[in-house]
This record gives sequence, structure tokens and C-alpha cells, in this order.
Amino acid sequence: MQNKKVISTEKLYDAQKSFFASQKTLSTAFRIQKLRGLKNEINKREKDIYKALYLDLRKSGFEAMTSETVLVEKEIAQMIKMLPLWNRPQRVKSSLINFPSRDYIIPEPYGNTLIISPWNYPFQLALTPLVGAIAAGNTAILKPSEFAPHTGKIIKEIISAVFDHEHVAVIEGDAKVATELLKRKWDNIMFTGSTSVGKIVAKAAAEHLTPTTLELGGKSPCIIDDSAPIVITAKRLIWGKFLNCGQTCIAPDYVMVHEKIKDRLTRELIFQIEKSFGKNPQESSDYGRMIHKKHFEKLKSSLKDQKVIYGGATDDKDLFFGPTIVENPDLNSNLMQEEIFGPILPIITYSKENEIHKVMENRERPLAFYVFSKRKKFINQLFQRYSFGGGVANDSIIQFANDNLPFGGVGHSGMGAYHGKYSFKNFSHEKPVIKRSFWFDLPGRYAPYPKSLSLLKLLLKNL
Ligand code: NAD
Repeated sequence: MQNKKVISTEKLYDAQKSFFASQKTLSTAFRIQKLRGLKNEINKREKDIYKALYLDLRKSGFEAMTSETVLVEKEIAQMIKMLPLWNRPQRVKSSLINFPSRDYIIPEPYGNTLIISPWNYPFQLALTPLVGAIAAGNTAILKPSEFAPHTGKIIKEIISAVFDHEHVAVIEGDAKVATELLKRKWDNIMFTGSTSVGKIVAKAAAEHLTPTTLELGGKSPCIIDDSAPIVITAKRLIWGKFLNCGQTCIAPDYVMVHEKIKDRLTRELIFQIEKSFGKNPQESSDYGRMIHKKHFEKLKSSLKDQKVIYGGATDDKDLFFGPTIVENPDLNSNLMQEEIFGPILPIITYSKENEIHKVMENRERPLAFYVFSKRKKFINQLFQRYSFGGGVANDSIIQFANDNLPFGGVGHSGMGAYHGKYSFKNFSHEKPVIKRSFWFDLPGRYAPYPKSLSLLKLLLKNL
């Protein structure tokens, strides 16, 4: 049913409350039917989605497919396949203290959910959380980012073609709209965006004690020791850094490289940039653009007083910001204090391993952590020492693609995780229930209680 008429937020919110109360979303078959509908509609609108992503971010068809639509379709396919298994009571071992009993965990939807999404992967980061919310049997209101309006419009059209508004609806708008939405009482909120807005969302959620998932950002380091093979390391690093013009939450933010290979690595990084995007990346159909002027200007000013050893070309009319490499930046500069979220790669040189720690200490926990090395011990030590959302040895970004892994941050890079089974769990309350029978009770359970506790203690500790 198409949802064409304009409905006030108030009415939408009440309609979703009543719809959830009707218990229609409790049926696995209903959820699967809706997810199938969503998959078909996405397929049908694929070209329109690519076009919108091009208009919003100058995304190439390749990036639009590999980092947006395919990931959503994969997520839906997994939910459809696994839902009959995941959405049923799981029997767990009973405690002899309760003998005889049967114990279960029943996944139940939270209820009415709110999803707020960012602009950098505006299709995928809006739809993937939504798929989890629907699969787990919730209703959802989705607010996409105002900075990717073409994609926001397509998302709204797709959702209203598949869902009744009382089940799932899209509300377009800016921070003001999000602020109004956050004043209401939700049963679950999922927010993807900056750490600063994440704090605002967490405060609003705390008002109603609403469980909240925060998918935030941070400065994700990339450590390269002298055993790393130069060519393949440079290729994988350049790909991860300049995908979507560096506007990727898990992009390597800065590099720490051993001084022995720094010069060779830098030459290869430049070679790989030019191999990927040519000598003039502004003309490359595979190189994106900055999302808006404010972000463009912020990046430009972060280069002030830095030693730019490659790139630095910009064109504000086109929001073009060329791939740029900065050498040994001041660790207290804005470039090294704030998440870059753009096509600037600072390279810091180290000679002893404890110098890595000097750069890393006192920094907030990042969303991603990368290390390139052939030394297993070095990799394992770093993975153990530092806390981060997710890590990869000898590649970048790929952690996002495996839905058997939870995706999420820790500390300032976020809380909670999703993708695949983790999404289903994230949007479900795991409700434990015990079914007892009437025929037996442990002796001494009821008052007047036994006076000697030693036998009872022994019994209870060993049951
Ligand atoms: P943002 O925080 O500015 O905006 C995200 C969403 O929040 C948008 O829908 C926006 O309208 C809304 N919003 C803005 N101000 C608000 C307010 N005061 N109250 C309530 N809602 C508000 O983030 P962005 O610029 O869209 O995205 C960039 C950030 O997101 C980066 O920090 C990046 O690392 C992070 N990010 C994280 C992930 C992840 O999966 N962890 C993914 C993508 C982006």
C-alpha cells in the first residue's frame, strides 16, 4: 500500500504504537514477507539508487553497488534465511535448584524504534539497521541525513512502496527534526553519526531509559612495520583511505610507519594513488567529492601549517579535494586531534615500538585498527594492547563485509554492535522464561527455615 498522504509525526508515532500492540509483527512469516518485498523493491530501484548516490556524493556505480546496495541485499537475504531459526525460543540448560523445569530464552521485539543515519553511506547505513529492526519484529521510524537528500528521497519512496506507515516510515529532515523525534519515548534507538551528536542522542535516550546503539567514529590508526610488503600494503591502504573520498567511518585515519620503509612506502602510496585516479583525480569517474562546503573548509583549514608532501589540490566550486599526504604532523594539531573523515593521509615515522605507544596513549578508543606486518607476534601484541571497535591485519575496511562479525565501536567510537545475527540480537530483548511443574520442591525451601545451614549451603553450591 502506498503511503502518499502527509501524516504528522504525532499521528505516525501513535499509529506505530497501535500497530505494534496489534502483535502483527510477532509473526516470522510476516517479517519475512516484508523483507522479501523490500529486497524486490531495492532491486527494482537499483539504477535510481545509483543515480541518487552519484548526485549526493559523486559515487561511482562500482562503489554504489559494492558498498551500498549489495551489502543491504546480503543482509536481507541472511535475515530471510535465518529468521525461522533465530526467532524461536531457544531452550537452555535448567538449574537443578529449580528442578524440575524447562528454561528458555525468547527473543522479543523491543517495540517502537527510531533509526537516525548519516550521509556518507546514506543508503546502506540507513537500510542495514532498518533490516535488523524489521527482522526482529519492531516498528521503525527512519530519519536519513539531510545532507544526502537524493538518497533520502529514494529511501522514502522504497519504504512507502513496501510498508504501511504504521509499520515503517521515513521522516526526512535535519537536526531540528531529529531533536523533536528524540523527545519522544522510544523502545530502542539506533544512531549512526558523529561522537558529538552521539552524546546528545544518549542524553535524550537516558531521559526514558531507552536502550541505544551508537555507531560513531574516531581516529583509526594504521601501523606498518618494516616487514610489511610495500606494494600490496600501499594498494590496500590507498583503497581503504580514498574510498568515498575518505569519508568512511572505518577509513585508516593516519599511518605510523617504521622509518626503514617510510620513503619506499610513500613513493608507492603516491604511485598507487595515481594508478587508481590518474594524475588529475578531479577527472576520474572513480573519485568522489566532499559532502558539503563546511566539511570541505574544515579539511582545508586542517592542512594549515602542515607539511604536505603530495596533493593538496582543491576546487571549492566542485567540492573537489584531491588525495593528500602529510608528513609527520604535529600531534597536537587539529589534523591529529580530530577525526579527518576526508582524503588526507598523515604519515608519522617511528623507529622503536614504544614510539607507537606515545602516539596512541591518551587517545580515545577508535572504531577501527589496522596493522600491516609479517610478524605474527607484533600483530598479536598490538591487538591485545589496544582497545578498538574492530581490527584487521594486512588489509583495511574489510571487517565491514563479514556479517558473522559484530560491527560496532567501543568507548568514544560507540556502543552496541550489529550486522547479521548481531543485528537481530541488537533489536531484540532476550526474554528468559522458566516453566516449572507443580510436583516437587527442594526440602527446606519455605519458612520456617532449617536452622543448620551447612548442609543446605553444600547442596546449593553444588546444584
Ligand atoms: P552527524 O552526527 O552530524 O549526523 C548524523 C545524523 O544525526 C544525521 O541524520 C543528522 O541529521 C542527525 N543530527 C545532527 N545533529 C543532531 C542533533 N543535534 N540531534 C539529533 N540528531 C542530529 O554525522 P554525519 O556528519 O552525518 O556523519 C559523519 C560521522 O559519522 C563521522 O564521525 C563518522 O565517523 C560517523 N560514522 C560512523 C559510522 C559507524 O558505523 N560507526 C558510519 C558512518 C559514519
